[in-house]
Amino acid sequence: MSEQHSEKKKPDTRFATKLIHFGAEIDEHTGASSVPIYQASTFHHHDIFNPPVHDYSRSGNPTRQALEDYIALLEGGVRGFAFASGMAAISTAFLLFSTGDHVIVTEDVYGGTYRLLTTVLNRLGIESTFVDMTDFNAVKEALRSNTKAVFMETPSNPTLKITDIGEIAAWAKSHDLITLLDNTFMTPYHQRPIELGVDIVLHSATKFLGGHSDVLAGLAVAANDSLGRRLKQLQNGLGTVLGSQESWLLIRGMKTLQARMEHSERSARQLAEWLDSHPGVGRVYYPGLASHPRRDVHEKQSKGYGAVVSFDVGDGERAKEVLSRVKLPLVAVSLGAVESILSYPAMMSHAAMPREVRLERGISDGLLRYSVGLEDIGDLIADLDQALNG
Ligand SMILES: *Cc1c(COP(=O)(O)O)cnc(C)c1O
Repeated sequence: MSEQHSEKKKPDTRFATKLIHFGAEIDEHTGASSVPIYQASTFHHHDIFNPPVHDYSRSGNPTRQALEDYIALLEGGVRGFAFASGMAAISTAFLLFSTGDHVIVTEDVYGGTYRLLTTVLNRLGIESTFVDMTDFNAVKEALRSNTKAVFMETPSNPTLKITDIGEIAAWAKSHDLITLLDNTFMTPYHQRPIELGVDIVLHSATKFLGGHSDVLAGLAVAANDSLGRRLKQLQNGLGTVLGSQESWLLIRGMKTLQARMEHSERSARQLAEWLDSHPGVGRVYYPGLASHPRRDVHEKQSKGYGAVVSFDVGDGERAKEVLSRVKLPLVAVSLGAVESILSYPAMMSHAAMPREVRLERGISDGLLRYSVGLEDIGDLIADLDQALNG
């Protein structure tokens, strides 16, 4: 920051203002209205005895740094980190643990995280137990003498099960466990886990934070300096960093986070209520519905219900019919974009899960997951109506 600029101390602001005035929105050198893309791998040492702040882009890049400070500010943590993907962020965070350590993980964790734990980290001797985190006793019973962490995801995917973040974080703290939470579905606009006692917040920024289906990225935020230092060492050591072009694109997308989330959530509520009263639709999963299990817990810890609605159309045949008939949403893996995205968990995100396990978790052959975008909700409902009615 230039002298002149740093004297103008930022007033204490609300979330929408922070999204725009996050500290690096004006380039200190030129006054440019966006963070410059520092497309450089290394930095000249003008004075060999006083190395520059950034000396090599794996260890630190000013564009990435702006993004890392931005997400730390939004989540209310002390330090942020940007990674090449959500899985790069999650993998890096899990390497805080060592051979012989045990972690407790929510049973309906993101498929990639499940795969990481069961095919990679298990080989390194990091053990995991998957539990239904809506059942606090099940979490407590999973504790072992070598347990080091609890990994949460709420609402979970795709049946939007609700974990009580504060309850589990407080219990974990009393046993000296590190708590990690995948906040991809809610974003810091709706839910700020660090305020509820969580130690590390993780994101697939590929989804709502980026918001335009055009960047693959991951973010992590540490709640305290010691975890911040450990994550920094891992990020630099593993080299799982996000490039500067991608960092810039992500910052660009994040500025409209609140505007997008508000619009999509309003539409998602309408869609969920419409689906709930549709005769051709079975169960509807959306935390905003009065009937949603543990809605009260969700409302205690989140400011909104998000933009993802899952619903059961009966069986696999009918699900495929609906998928082939919709004309507006992208039929794809992923979520959280300006365009609506309709996915089929049984054949996409949860295809690798054994069918019995999948059914046990409510991920039936007729389950569809709708991520509501920014289109006119009347058009989206009319389109889904024609698809459901054939
Ligand atoms: C997509 C997703 C991930 C993985 O992120 P990538 O950016 O695809 O690597 C992790 N967690 C959740 C909840 C996701 O939806």
